Amino acid sequence: MTEGRADKVKKGILKKYQGRTPKARENDNRARKFLPGGNTRSVAFFPPYPVYMVEGKGCHTRDIDGNEYIDFLNNYTSLIHGHADPDIIRAVKDQLEKGTEFATPTALQYEHAEMLTGRLPSADMVRYCNSGTEATLWAIKLARAATGRDMIVKMEGGYHGTHDLAKVSVSPDLQSEGLPKAHLEGPGVPKSILDEVAVAPFNDLDSVEILLKKHRDKVAAIITEPMLGSLGMITPKAGYLQGLRNLADQYDVLLIFDEVITFRLSLGGIQAIQGVRPDITALGKIIGGGFPAGAFCGTREVMDRFGPGARDVASLTHAGTFNGNAITTVAGIIALKKFDQAAVDKVNRLGERMKEGLGRALKNVGLKGRVTGIGSLLQVHFGDKEIDSAVDSVMGIVNSKEMQRFLHLEMINRGIFSAGRGMFVISTPMTGKEIDQAVEAFEGSLETLKPYAREEAPGLLLN
Ligand code: PMP
Repeated sequence: MTEGRADKVKKGILKKYQGRTPKARENDNRARKFLPGGNTRSVAFFPPYPVYMVEGKGCHTRDIDGNEYIDFLNNYTSLIHGHADPDIIRAVKDQLEKGTEFATPTALQYEHAEMLTGRLPSADMVRYCNSGTEATLWAIKLARAATGRDMIVKMEGGYHGTHDLAKVSVSPDLQSEGLPKAHLEGPGVPKSILDEVAVAPFNDLDSVEILLKKHRDKVAAIITEPMLGSLGMITPKAGYLQGLRNLADQYDVLLIFDEVITFRLSLGGIQAIQGVRPDITALGKIIGGGFPAGAFCGTREVMDRFGPGARDVASLTHAGTFNGNAITTVAGIIALKKFDQAAVDKVNRLGERMKEGLGRALKNVGLKGRVTGIGSLLQVHFGDKEIDSAVDSVMGIVNSKEMQRFLHLEMINRGIFSAGRGMFVISTPMTGKEIDQAVEAFEGSLETLKPYAREEAPGLLLN
């Protein structure tokens, strides 16, 4: 059988990748003996094996094979100032000498909290934890405690980390018409969780209302990412977030925004841009300046349930050995100080430039695609359909076969590191130069992939 053009394209990209990364392959083989799958974070893996980064400075990284990259992943959005920011390093080194964690409150904690509450219109008070997963877990627990109810309404495609309640309908239901059928996201989650979660499509207020009516007096909170992140930077339609606020008020449930990713979009996250106030906000990623971080915050009324003096007789116990540890907190304070209005504007402007560039590259090469996202957070989708929901996003992936996977590898071959799913993230050390280099690499990669598309996904070709 003769080999098709599509196979040749894939083989060529793989061969180049493997030729550049022999040490990464060796490391992967070795790692697999001790780490299931060779890693300790599912998204860190991509076939045939991931590169091994050894060094990063600003927006540049170098892998174990000596290849250099511009980093457009930034640890899945957490490294707002890129790698090894000198101001953060200085503050952390200083703090290392003084001690990393204490079992008492520290002034660093309230200084950090003062910054967060100063920026987030909806937040009066903050509690710290160690990840975004913990932040959403606690946001939900708090909503349950505040309302005395158990259920939550979440959006299909909403990613809130890896606890049980978050492991429902992250991947969309492609079969059902109308309301999606909620499903568990993988094994290890009890089926009974499905009794506690109702799922609505993103950007669909009617479905949320149907669920709130159906489960009247049982729902504690609506939880949503204000822009669906992992599912493809799907932006909220005009009025959607305010509509959720209205529904929450109308049906007397709390509204939780998971701004773990979107907090970077302005000084006060999407909520400040859109002027919509959730009752509770979950945070993570950039607030720790590159160290493990999480926080949940909200109105005094909702938050004042912790510790002595709490309004409720049975106050909530929220413990955690590393909560608000000195290293994360000091790094976070510096990271936030440096992420001032000028820095926000800079990354968002660069993001817009990149969005325009990627869109132009798709046109130049003659492929159908669109770039979604806001400001410094971007996502490439293949196809020409509007992307308003998780189903739209996943159908785009299905219809483009292996385009995203090989685009990712070919971009790596050309020195641009990003997420396998087509996400690009801007950091403050970047300049127009890095953006233009990435756009050029993107256009070149698309040219390489065009024969693949012609054979495997001809629907993607423009005319
Ligand atoms: N919420 C959102 C919106 C996220 O994107 C993530 C992580 N990508 C999380 C929660 C979980 O955060 P972590 O990985 O720190 O647990």
